[in-house]
Amino acid sequence: MSKAAVFFDRDDTLMRNVPYLGDPSQVVLFPGVADALEKLHDADFELFIVSNQSGVGRGLITIEQVARVTEEMIRQLGEIRFTGVYNCYAAPGQPGEEHRKPSPYLIQQAATEHKIDLAKSFMVGDRLSDVLSGKNAGCKSLLVLTGPSSPERDIARTHADYIAADLIEAAEWIVREAKGKN
Ligand SMILES: [Mg+2]
Repeated sequence: MSKAAVFFDRDDTLMRNVPYLGDPSQVVLFPGVADALEKLHDADFELFIVSNQSGVGRGLITIEQVARVTEEMIRQLGEIRFTGVYNCYAAPGQPGEEHRKPSPYLIQQAATEHKIDLAKSFMVGDRLSDVLSGKNAGCKSLLVLTGPSSPERDIARTHADYIAADLIEAAEWIVREAKGKN
């Protein structure tokens, strides 16, 4: 039987966004993230990170720095384990940019490699591109209001299946939705 997953944006969804961050010492998890992820893990969801990291394509940081930052975030989460981390490193205008969110490419790649049923899966992020990438992949999409407000985010509200104040509220909705109780 194929599995259900929750795909997460990284920056301003799981941790504070610092543009083009390459320094693990600046990783700051948002409050409640570990509890939210544990709740979803306990509900038998596979957990993935899907992230645009164009700082690599722009020549500002290396793939290794992106990996070290993500590893530090996962270390701070403690027992929580992600099944996979999928990044797009291309900057707009570069080869591979078509794989950036809002493309469903990263989610579809994860689903293929890990036998995930996308119709039973969810995407969680703070931006329009996150919400659209989930919808484009056939998932339900949640907008979390953990990033800065913007006209773009107001558009994201109209596309999201659910709008959550934070990751805890998002996890609670996902678990209820999976049980058909929303
Ligand atoms: Mg983000």
